[in-house]
Amino acid sequence: MLALPLVRLVAPEAVPRSRAVTTVVVTGEIDLASAERLALPLRPGPHLAPVVHLDLRGITFMDVSGLRILLLASRRAAVANGHLGLSRMSPQVRRLLQLTHVQTVREPDCGCLRLVDPA
Ligand SMILES: [Zn+2]
Repeated sequence: MLALPLVRLVAPEAVPRSRAVTTVVVTGEIDLASAERLALPLRPGPHLAPVVHLDLRGITFMDVSGLRILLLASRRAAVANGHLGLSRMSPQVRRLLQLTHVQTVREPDCGCLRLVDPA
């Protein structure tokens, strides 16, 4: 049994020379059973700025269920004229991106890593 992931939203804050950003800190393990806990706070709504940064430093396990949610949230953010970027990631997240051949590009304005949609 995997430990449920904890998701914490940091209120939108101004970043230098840019726009409001919501930072979402996620820790723990994300698999099919727990992925909804990640998906819910990433659904569009007034709690999220158009730009969302994910701090995934504390992720100890993530499989493709988690990655699927990140890609979906990334697509939605792009439609809303924002982006979803990874500000920090654990070795486990980095490894998942390598294994699934999901590329990242650095956002010039804020320095986060945006997922390149393979679809
Ligand atoms: Zn960014």
